[in-house]
Amino acid sequence: MDNRRTIVGLCRALLLTSMICAPLAEGQQPPAGQQVAETGFDYSRYFPSPQAEVQQRNELMNRTEAFLHRTAWTPENASHALDEGATLKRSWMLHLEYCKLRSADDAQDKETADCQSQSGNQSSAVSAFVEKELEAPAFASLSHADLARLHLEPYRYLMAEATENLRHLLPPSEQKLVNDLADPLLGAWSDRYDALVRQAASEVKPIQTSSGPLNPIRDRQQLSTAADRGVREAAYRARLEVYQPHRDVIAMTLLDTIRLETGLAKARNYPSAPARKYQGRLQRSEPQVREMLQWVQQNADLLRQYQRVRAERIATLTGIRDVHSWDLGLSSGYVPRRLTFEQARTLMVNAVTPLGKQFESRFAWLVNPANGALDMNGGTRRQPGGFSVGYPSVPIALYVDRFNGDLDSIAQLIHEAGHAIHRKLMSEAGVSPFYASGPNFLSEAYAIFNELLLWHELEKEATTPEERAYYQERLLDEVTFQIFTSAEEGELEQGLYDSVTAGTIRNADDIDKLNGGILDPYELFAPQEPSMRLNWMRKRLLINDPLYLVSYLYAGLVACKLYEMNEADPMAFAKRYTALLSEGFDAPADDLLKRNMGFGLDGKSLLDGALALVRNQTSQLQEGYASLSR
Ligand SMILES: [Zn+2]
Repeated sequence: MDNRRTIVGLCRALLLTSMICAPLAEGQQPPAGQQVAETGFDYSRYFPSPQAEVQQRNELMNRTEAFLHRTAWTPENASHALDEGATLKRSWMLHLEYCKLRSADDAQDKETADCQSQSGNQSSAVSAFVEKELEAPAFASLSHADLARLHLEPYRYLMAEATENLRHLLPPSEQKLVNDLADPLLGAWSDRYDALVRQAASEVKPIQTSSGPLNPIRDRQQLSTAADRGVREAAYRARLEVYQPHRDVIAMTLLDTIRLETGLAKARNYPSAPARKYQGRLQRSEPQVREMLQWVQQNADLLRQYQRVRAERIATLTGIRDVHSWDLGLSSGYVPRRLTFEQARTLMVNAVTPLGKQFESRFAWLVNPANGALDMNGGTRRQPGGFSVGYPSVPIALYVDRFNGDLDSIAQLIHEAGHAIHRKLMSEAGVSPFYASGPNFLSEAYAIFNELLLWHELEKEATTPEERAYYQERLLDEVTFQIFTSAEEGELEQGLYDSVTAGTIRNADDIDKLNGGILDPYELFAPQEPSMRLNWMRKRLLINDPLYLVSYLYAGLVACKLYEMNEADPMAFAKRYTALLSEGFDAPADDLLKRNMGFGLDGKSLLDGALALVRNQTSQLQEGYASLSR
């Protein structure tokens, strides 16, 4: 399962918001006779022609240049300037989303790729400029009455964020050092890790199977369900041990990254690197995150119980007495069939029906190829993976390189479409461009929630006990991965930063030991499978995006909480949820959730949704297994 994070990390760098943007499996073509929609994007929803886009972009560049030179904002003139900044951002995003779609359809087209980077850079430049102007002391002291008089009330949160930033700004000379030294080093270490991983992957020895040699990394899925137990075990061990020849370099790269991140955080007046990153990404303090990690760990028996139920089922099915991690791919014995796009579309719309008419109708529109907002036509020059676009006043669209009808591709569609509908609801509600995005984990929570609804719908529509059990497993796999695996990773990363600061960790063996101590209480098989503790080496985000991993825990917890609330009272839920999605990010995530949904990011009430979900689903699965034939 950890491999998913690796894929996720890679695609996150490209797409920023997508957790499930893994390329569809190589070499998979739609089965013969399967319908594939012939329509692609209707680009005229964005610009009448490519020439018109270029012309408008040139004009926009001039307007932006002028805006970026108009410094010395005052509270009196700021409202006008902010409105203009918002207009510029909307315009740049129209170009960005259009060029992103065209670039995905033809990944070799340099012009659209250049347009994409130019538009992204200009939109960011507008935001950075606005933030810098709002850092002026005159804005920090404005009262509520001042804000109302100066028409600045809608920008209150934006100004508060700018003031908060000010507390952690570096003097220009130090910022220059960071730009010249620290950033390139972090980038180089990340590249070094990627190079080592590529090298390790190229060196991995194939596993001999009855259907020929298979690659433990590339053919992971096939190997995990192989009938020969020896093959499953060899593949599992090979995946964990593949980085062993490079462990010392990976460990040093990781520890150097941690030292540098710690130094950077302290220079910016944070007590630690976790404190800095948690504040930025989760809007949580370090003690709050530590407490949450501790609570999840105290409930780790739920994960072990799920794994025990799965292991017992596999023992019944196969006669294996000492089930291990490498046997868990065997599952309930059901093999899902591929769906046509029409079937997948009906399934997805049914899955989101509980979210209310407003959500469902927009979703159904988006996934109807006739509307020109969906492109999954395939082709030889396409960008792999999938993503969606949309922004205040910018039309939404959904891209996947091709649809192959398997469950992963449907999960990807419902996830990305979820992001798109969120953006559409914000756009319809007139959300300011400055509030169109917020902490990543919250947007991800909404998209993951869609995936949970998909597994639930499949479970409801199942016609045999085997099929039902299979979808219950998929739901539980997803939830336990989001909650427990993310908590293991969050604990590992927090532990690494603590130990480096304390000077108690020096090499790869120390990291193995730390990781082993974290995994033992969580994972049923960890105490008997010491090689499991080597899994830190394949967690790319530890080096590529330090302290990001715990964000998945919060995304998962919010998604599960939403799921549980929806189950409890669907009517009331749909209304509140639509209001939450429509509001945008004009307040901290905790406030948004509290005022719309009645729960916040602290306390056990956030956790209880996930725990109830895992507990109930596991006991249902256990009952279901009891009724299955051997
Ligand atoms: Zn996503």
